[in-house]
Amino acid sequence: MLSVNNRITGPEALQRLLAGNKRFLSGKLEHPNHCEESRKGLILGQEPLAAVLTCADSRVPPVDVFDQGLGDIFVVRVAGNIINDHILGSIEYAVSHLHTPLVMVMGHSSCGAVSAVAQGVKLHGHIASLTPSIDAALKKTKGMEGHWTNNAAKELAITTAKKIEESEPIVADLVKEGRVLVVATYYDLETGEVSMLNGDAL
Ligand SMILES: [Zn+2]
Repeated sequence: MLSVNNRITGPEALQRLLAGNKRFLSGKLEHPNHCEESRKGLILGQEPLAAVLTCADSRVPPVDVFDQGLGDIFVVRVAGNIINDHILGSIEYAVSHLHTPLVMVMGHSSCGAVSAVAQGVKLHGHIASLTPSIDAALKKTKGMEGHWTNNAAKELAITTAKKIEESEPIVADLVKEGRVLVVATYYDLETGEVSMLNGDAL
């Protein structure tokens, strides 16, 4: 399952991110690739080890949560980590042009976008454009054991990851060829831990 440049595989990239999250949890941060040398080494190009789609929430910064640095993560963010053509196009660019071997969709606890839709808050302007996918996840998880909106955030991450994994023509083909791994994860604001939502990835 090697990427085009044989640099790193999807599972290896995932292990790197999860190891970084363990450092984040333990407070033993390495803050890799933050120096001038790293910055200058990236002038001519980038080979990020993962593309991470997550919420725009200021409390959920992927580079910090995974203790990575410049050039390590191709970050795509939008409130509620939903998907549309612009988001998918960005991910397609990462996997096909930058040969990123891992795509991660990361939902999170206490997501304001999910809570607002759950509470039936009247969303005006363009905010309302975010709601259909969130609403579907809320409907699917209503009545389930546990915390409704957090369950919906997990469901939304799983659903979004599945949509990306099956998206034609670019990502689905690369997944079939074993060159890209798509996973869903969940970030807990309270513990700082990122957990896997689809267990077959490792
Ligand atoms: Zn959120």
